[in-house]
Amino acid sequence: MLRSLVLKSVLAVMAPLAALAACVAPQQTDVLVVDASAIFDGRDVIRDARLVVREGRVEAVGPQSEIAAPAGAEILDYGDRFLMPGMIASHSHVGTVSGTEHGGRFYSRETVERDLAQFQRYGVVAVNALGLNRPLFHELRKELRGPGHDGADLFGAGAGVGAVDGAPPMDRMGVMPDQAMRPATPEEARAAVRETAEAGVDIIKIWVDPMGGQVPKMPEAIYAAAISEAHAQGLRAAAHIHDLEDAKGVIRAGVDIVGHGVRDAPVDQELIALMLEQDVWYVPTINIDEANYIYAEHPEWLEDPFFLAALSPELEAQLRDEAWRQRALDGAGSARMAVMNNLRNLQRLHAAGVKVALGTDSGATALRIPGFAEHRELELLVLAGMTPTEALAAATANGAALMGLSDRGQLAPGFVADFLVLEADPTVDIRATRSLAEVWRGGYRVDQ
Ligand SMILES: [Zn+2]
Repeated sequence: MLRSLVLKSVLAVMAPLAALAACVAPQQTDVLVVDASAIFDGRDVIRDARLVVREGRVEAVGPQSEIAAPAGAEILDYGDRFLMPGMIASHSHVGTVSGTEHGGRFYSRETVERDLAQFQRYGVVAVNALGLNRPLFHELRKELRGPGHDGADLFGAGAGVGAVDGAPPMDRMGVMPDQAMRPATPEEARAAVRETAEAGVDIIKIWVDPMGGQVPKMPEAIYAAAISEAHAQGLRAAAHIHDLEDAKGVIRAGVDIVGHGVRDAPVDQELIALMLEQDVWYVPTINIDEANYIYAEHPEWLEDPFFLAALSPELEAQLRDEAWRQRALDGAGSARMAVMNNLRNLQRLHAAGVKVALGTDSGATALRIPGFAEHRELELLVLAGMTPTEALAAATANGAALMGLSDRGQLAPGFVADFLVLEADPTVDIRATRSLAEVWRGGYRVDQ
C-alpha cells in the first residue's frame, strides 16, 4: 500500500503517541522494496535494479540478482519504469513572481510555498534560492525543509551581496532594498557576509556583473572581501557573472561556484586552468537567456500538458498572445547570442573536466518557469555535449555536492529516499524526464 504525504503529516502530529505506543509493543519496521527496469543512482545506471528503503532512507540499491528483499518488506514492481534521485536546482529563486510580473513586493510565505510545491511537482526536491530573498527567508528556511513539509526543501543565500547602484538592479528587477546588501567598502562587505551568516543561510551570493555596462560592476576589493569572509564563516560563495573576465576575477578571489555561464566570449585556457586548479563549480543556466524567446518560438508547447501545468493563467495568456510573441522574437538577438556562447563554453569546460551542476535561474521572472525550466535545462546540457547520464548527474549528485548536502542527490545506502519514477528512460532521450509519473520524498509517495 502506498502512503501519502497527508498520512505522513497525520503521523507527524501523532508522533508522541506513537512513541508512547512503541514502549508498549514493538512497531513493525517500515521496509519498502522497489524494482524497476533501471535505476540511475546519481552517478551510474543500474539495469534490472532494486531499491530498498528503510524508514525513509536508502538501505540498498543494485541489481535485483544481488539484493534479496528483506523479510516483511512491501514490494513494488515498477516493471519497465525508470527511477532516479529527486532533482536539485542549484540556482533558482522563490517567492518573487506573480502572474507575468516579478519583484520583491510579491515575496511572502504563500508565494515561496507555491514555488516549492511547483518545484516538487516537477521532481525538484531541493532548491538553492540564490539571493533576492527577503528577511522572511531565514524563518522559512528552517520550516520548509525536511520531513513534514510538502514541497521542495528550501536552501539558499538569504538576500545576497550586490553592487552599489549595480546588480541586482533596483529598477529592472523590482528589487526591494532588503533583497540585496550593497557594501561600499571591503569592511562593509565582510560585515554584510557576517550578518547574513548569523541570520542563517546555506551559501553566500555575490553579484559582480555590470549588466552589459549599464550599471557599475562590483569592485574586486569588495567581492574578494565577501568571498574571504564567506569562507571564514564556513560557507561557500557563488557569483553572478556574465563575462569571461569577471569569471576569472571571482575565481582568482576564491569563489566556489560560478553561478551563470560565461556568455560574452569563448572561454580560454586560462579560465579552464583556473577552474580546474581551484575545483570550481560551473552552473551554466542556459535557459536564463533562452527563456526570453523560446516560448514565443514554440507555441505548440502550449499543447503539452507537462508544460501547461507549470503556467499561471496570466502567463499562459501572455504566451498565447500573438503580439507578445512577435515582440519577444523581434527582441531576441542578444539572448540568442548569449545562448550560443553559453552552449559552446559549456561544451569546452565540460570536455576539460570542469564540474557542472544544473541551475536555471527559475523563479526570478515569470518566464523562468520553476520545474519546467529544470527539465528544459537537462535538454540544453545534452545539446552542449553532455551525455544524458552526465546531465542527470548534474541535476542530482552534483547539485548535492555543490550545496554540501551529504545525504541527498543519490540513491545510495544512507541517503534520503527522495526519488522520481519515470515512464521512459532518459538515458535514451533526456526528454523522458518529462514522463514523470511519481515523486517520492523520504520514502513516501507524494500525492500529485
Ligand atoms: Zn539568479
